[in-house]
Amino acid sequence: MSLSALEAHIARDLERIDHPAMQWLEPRIAPDGTEALDVLIVGGGQSGVAIGFGLLRAKVDNILVIDGADRGQEGPWRSFARMGTLRSPKDYTGPDLDIPSLTYRSWHEAKFGTDDWDKLGLIPREYWADYLLWVRDVTGVPVRNGVRMTGVSAAGPGLLAVEVEENGHRSVLHTRKLVLATGQDGLGRWWMPECLERLPAPLRAHAADPIDFAALAGKTVAIIGLGASALDNAASALEAGVASVHVFCRRRDP
Ligand SMILES: Cc1cc2nc3c(=O)[nH]c(=O)nc-3n(C[C@H](O)[C@H](O)[C@H](O)COP(=O)(O)OP(=O)(O)OC[C@H]3O[C@@H](n4cnc5c(N)ncnc54)[C@H](O)[C@@H]3O)c2cc1C
Repeated sequence: MSLSALEAHIARDLERIDHPAMQWLEPRIAPDGTEALDVLIVGGGQSGVAIGFGLLRAKVDNILVIDGADRGQEGPWRSFARMGTLRSPKDYTGPDLDIPSLTYRSWHEAKFGTDDWDKLGLIPREYWADYLLWVRDVTGVPVRNGVRMTGVSAAGPGLLAVEVEENGHRSVLHTRKLVLATGQDGLGRWWMPECLERLPAPLRAHAADPIDFAALAGKTVAIIGLGASALDNAASALEAGVASVHVFCRRRDP
């Protein structure tokens, strides 16, 4: 089945499970006279898109997803995730919400064929990012990219005023409910030991920073920590021609 045939199939699937069929939420007017959103989701990664899709299916369709990143750059997949393939097995389901035609497998088979799926070991990282964008497009989840949430306050009974910034302009979105689907970015700030932070910026980087590995060719690189990202970065550095990599782990027995 081609991708366009799969998309037509998905449209039919969604039509058949379209219940409730009618909108059931009363519109709410915000203090500025505009209609408030029913749900604002901050973060357009896989969680934000899956939640948005779940709400659309429940006919909560006055919703918006915002993401500070550009379209396609949501989540870690095209920035600081540096492994070649996902670590999750290829047959995990997720943002498809258990609709077979929306699974990664259906997308992969439509794009590359069933033989390719059978031969596939793990999902290439960039395919996963492409798949997530496709899910968002075929399910019609409304996402505005380049919009960052900067604050939130109460705005009268049952409403929230969410401050956002877009291209340096600040504005307010009113909503009944707010969902934070901000992933690892939402956990605070990226941190490194103070002694490393004090080093000149060109001499150190956090794994979540953009890193010009080619500029490190021929040099010796120290990596602090022995988690999955440490080894992904070690491999990326060696592939880019770094002379040697030393990985440090504080536990005696890792
Ligand atoms: C190296 C690496 C490998 C991984 N491998 C796997 C794997 O194989 N399988 C797996 O299941 N998981 C893996 N993960 C975990 C992965 O991060 C999560 O599974 C997935 O990204 C979680 O999706 P999410 O939508 O919750 O968060 P994210 O994908 O992180 O999305 C959060 C979004 O919120 C946006 N955001 C944050 N703050 C704001 C704000 N204030 N305003 C607007 N937007 C904001 C961000 O721009 C981002 O796009 C890996 C993670 C890393 C770093």
